[in-house]
This record gives sequence, C-alpha cells and structure tokens, in this order.
Amino acid sequence: INTKLPAVGTNIFTIMSKLAADHESINLGQGFPDFNPDPTLISLVSKAMNDGYNQYPFMTGVPALRHTIAEKMFKTSGHQYDVDQEVTVTSGATEALMAAVISCAGPGDEVIVLEPCYDSYIPAITLSSATPICVPLTPPTSGSTTFSIDWDRVASSITPATKILILNFPHNPTSSVLTEADLDELERLSNQHDILFISDEVYEHIVFTKEGHKSLATRPALAARTFVISSFGKTTHTTGWKLGYCCAPPALTNELRKVHQFMVFTVPSPFQYAMAQYCKDPNTYLGLAAFYQEKRDHLINGLNQTRFKPLPSDGTFFLLADYSEISDLPEADFSIWLTKHHGVTVIPVSAFYSDPRSSTSNHNIIRFCFAKQPATLNAAIDRLITV
Ligand code: GLN
Repeated sequence: INTKLPAVGTNIFTIMSKLAADHESINLGQGFPDFNPDPTLISLVSKAMNDGYNQYPFMTGVPALRHTIAEKMFKTSGHQYDVDQEVTVTSGATEALMAAVISCAGPGDEVIVLEPCYDSYIPAITLSSATPICVPLTPPTSGSTTFSIDWDRVASSITPATKILILNFPHNPTSSVLTEADLDELERLSNQHDILFISDEVYEHIVFTKEGHKSLATRPALAARTFVISSFGKTTHTTGWKLGYCCAPPALTNELRKVHQFMVFTVPSPFQYAMAQYCKDPNTYLGLAAFYQEKRDHLINGLNQTRFKPLPSDGTFFLLADYSEISDLPEADFSIWLTKHHGVTVIPVSAFYSDPRSSTSNHNIIRFCFAKQPATLNAAIDRLITV
C-alpha cells in the first residue's frame, strides 16, 4: 500500500510514557504537569456546561475567547489582532501547526525547520507533499553553553522554492529563547525573501531572561507574514484540554480556517467559555515564569549533586543535561537504560532530529521536564544521585 508517512513510528513521548508506566518510573519525560489547574478554572468548565454551552461553537472559536486571546496578544506583544479576521481557536497548537503548514505548503515547496525540532513539524510538511529542509542549531559543544541559531546557515538554506520557515521559541527541547538581535535577522530575511513564518510560541509565558519573550508579533513586518501559534495547555496546566490558537493576518487566517473546518471544525465549547473568562485576568499567565523558575532551579540544584551536567534553560518547562560522565550510550539507549535501571524517565534529544541515530544527532544530552510537584522532583533527584 502506498501510504503517506511510512517512516513515522509511534512518537517518543508515547513510547517513553508507556515505558515509565511499565517500570513504575518517575516520568520527567513527556511534557505535562503532574498537578491540577486552578480550581477556579475547573469550576468555570462545569459552570459553562450547566449554563448550556454544550453544542457546536463557531468554527473559528467562541467570540469571548477570541477577545481574550486578542487582548492577551496586545498586552504581551503590542500587536492588535482583529478578533474576527485574525484569531482562530484550534485543537491545541498541534492542530494549528498542521493546518498552517497544509494550507500554505505543497508539492515543490520547501519548508525550513531548525533541528532539533518538535516532532509534529516534519510529518506536517511531508503530509503537505512539501520538502522539509533541516537546518541544525549549533550544539553546545562548539563553544557556547547552549544551542544557538546560525543565521548564516539559515540564510544560505533559503532557495526560490522556500515557502515557510518554522520557528519555535522558547524552544523545545533546548530551552533557548529569541533575542532582539534574532528578530533583526528575521526581519532582514523577510525583506530579502518572499517567505512565510510559522512561529510556535506555546511556551510564550515561560521565559526566565530579563528581556522576556520575543514574539514575532512584536515586529509589524514579521507579524504581516507570520502564523503565531500558542496553546493554553502550557499556560494553564491543562495539556489534556487541547486548547490552542493561531493569530495571523486575514489572508493567512482565511487559508488556515479552510483546513481547520475540515480537520476538526471546532473545539469543545465548555473549555472555550471557561478559558475566555479565566484568562481575561492577566495574573493567570503573568506569574507563570516565576512559578516555573523555582521548579527549574529546584531541578538544577538537585542535578548539581549528580553526575549529570545541567545546561542553561532560558525558557519552557524543560532542562537539558549532559550525561557524558556517566555513559557514552546513544541518547535513546541511555534514556531506556535510565528508566529500566534507575526509575527516572527522560527524553533523548536525538528524537527531535530527522535522523535520530546519526552521530550528528547525538550529543549525550537528555531532556528533563520540571513541570512537577516538589515531591516528584525530590524523588527523582534521590534516584539520580545514585546513577
Ligand atoms: N509537547 C510535549 C513534549 O514535548 C508532548 C506532547 C505530546 O505528547 N505529543 O513533551
């Protein structure tokens, strides 16, 4: 049978979470909090259900939620998106990413991703019959202590066939963030080439640097050609609700919605009403970076008592660590070994590369998720000390 994704297997998050469950391991792999969202938010969902919001909402998302999103974007980026023509509620960021790629890329088009990259990007490009072009981030081994963007390499990978550049900052899995200088580089590229950007900003509210999050929406010239995509899952500790959104200029939004209406049509109504009400208050997301910084530092302090070497984490709820002192197994094998023999589950960074087994994808680095209760982090640290 001639299928479209023959090379794609079960994704790494599913594999590692299943392995963690089978071995009763502490799961610091797949990125999700092990604590509940604010009870106020939960009660707003049951209120919405009791108030009768249980049928199909608008295809584009309930107006109150689109308002809340537009206000949040204006407060954090200064860009005013039009509620009706530029904001769409999606089934998580995943659906927005798929719809954005499918709506704009096709046979003969090239779509650039920066590797390591989130696992849904390349399949989305492949399903569009476009060609993924992988540009590696520069790994920490070559001087800097973190993964960084080589803008010359990005520029030289652009061809007349380049349609889209996909960005994801704060970055999963490397935790790096964009700077104003990076936005300058992007503006330069957008002046020289007719390309679109997809900016996956799901960790927008989890940035630990003084400068804070740099959304592509902060630059009008970039906003004019960008799908800015985010997710309430990360922001309100509700990854299982699959509530995301996309902000983009009308022409791009129009195309995205054509795909969205036939992929899922719309997104569960009670969650939309609840989130609209809850995130009207900016305090629901403005304190998130401080909340997670404490957890990041908890894990760093713990790892400093082990043979793992933590790398800098400027954003997201992930932290990379080098295990060269412990083993020279490839990252996937090391991650399985760690689960089976020490009861702590992590994600191999190599899984975020198009060729996970190659030596250029393996740097003896694994990813920890620190979106966990202090007791969970302590229990994991106790086990890691013995490795
Ligand atoms: N984004 C999450 C991570 O990186 C996982 C999402 C998923 O399981 N598909 O861990």
